[in-house]
Amino acid sequence: MAGRFLRACLTSTMQLRRNLTARPLHRAMATLKGIPTDEEQATGLERRALQALKLGKDPYSMLKPKEYAGTKEDPHIVPSTVNKRLVGCLCEEDNTAIVWFWLHEGPSQRCPSCGSHYKLVHHELPH
Ligand SMILES: [Zn+2]
Repeated sequence: MAGRFLRACLTSTMQLRRNLTARPLHRAMATLKGIPTDEEQATGLERRALQALKLGKDPYSMLKPKEYAGTKEDPHIVPSTVNKRLVGCLCEEDNTAIVWFWLHEGPSQRCPSCGSHYKLVHHELPH
């Protein structure tokens, strides 16, 4: 009695699943191929930003304007019109992730990831 019930249940479940997934599954896969996921879009945006940065552009006003050694004696100079600024550190060439941290006016600060020195320098806007 119990065995018969189980077998009947399994059979109907398999039939149901086959009916449900035959065509919809195919369509879902086609959709996934064409439309990028959120993750892919975020990665693409970050990659575009990195490419722009490497070309010397600064679309998000986030990069050090010049290359310095980044040592304590020769920190990256970060101009800012206010007393703090968000800095994006590309710790290594070809790094895919940007390390963000707030740089405050005063003594130079170090990137929490690679330890490069950054110093905020007041920059007045031209009148
Ligand atoms: Zn860094």
